[in-house]
Amino acid sequence: MNINAPPKRIGIMGGTFDPLHYGHLVAAEMARHEFALEKVIFIPTGNPPHKVGRRVTSPGDRYEMVKRAVQDNSFFEVSDLEIQRKGYSYTVDTLKELHELYPQHELYFITGADAFREIFTWREVQSVLSLSHFIGASRPGFDPHEFLEELKRDYPEFLPHMHLFDVPALAISSTDIRSRVKEGKPIRYLLPESVRLYIEETGLYRI
Ligand code: NAP
Repeated sequence: MNINAPPKRIGIMGGTFDPLHYGHLVAAEMARHEFALEKVIFIPTGNPPHKVGRRVTSPGDRYEMVKRAVQDNSFFEVSDLEIQRKGYSYTVDTLKELHELYPQHELYFITGADAFREIFTWREVQSVLSLSHFIGASRPGFDPHEFLEELKRDYPEFLPHMHLFDVPALAISSTDIRSRVKEGKPIRYLLPESVRLYIEETGLYRI
């Protein structure tokens, strides 16, 4: 073993994925290349504490859609780690579990830059920030100024852990796809065909 070799890196793609679309896939692939990630593990949220009282598609359906979407990329995997967990799913628990599974790797948690705006309210934020690097994929028009100011003021030591990058394909959004299905509008080419067919077969988002 070469002790001078840089640590290997794993990407963790966290999201509700309700449903998964091309914006997510492009973000994961760009991050994989940009940050030299060995692979990217998609982890659909189980029971998200920040979505209590909101309608979220069952974890089983969301997992199945992600599974279908990532199967043709040998660098992508899907994990049911959060879905299997009892109670609310907190990112801090996921990162701790992944550190045990991959003790030699550095973790890079990828998600929407919008989600990171709220990171200071996440459970055990200090641990969260120390357990992983963060890659925020931003939609066109996202302004990171306020977020970065807060990070600089309250957690300056973690500034080098936070990476933001633009993903033009994130103009696609899960919310918009759900509305389109409900209104009978087409969703083809916004997401993988395997996911579109799953939505059609199961009748998801129609009501
Ligand atoms: P969300 O509030 O549903 O999404 C926020 C924004 O980020 C949306 O614009 C969303 O677009 C986008 N987004 C979500 N996942 C993305 C991804 N992987 N790549 C690119 N864009 C993405 O956020 P969420 O999906 O529930 O949560 C994101 C992650 O943060 C999850 O892993 C969640 O567990 C974690 N989180 C943890 C805590 C905690 O530990 N307390 C609290 C909040 C979130 P789309 O709707 O188009 O996906």
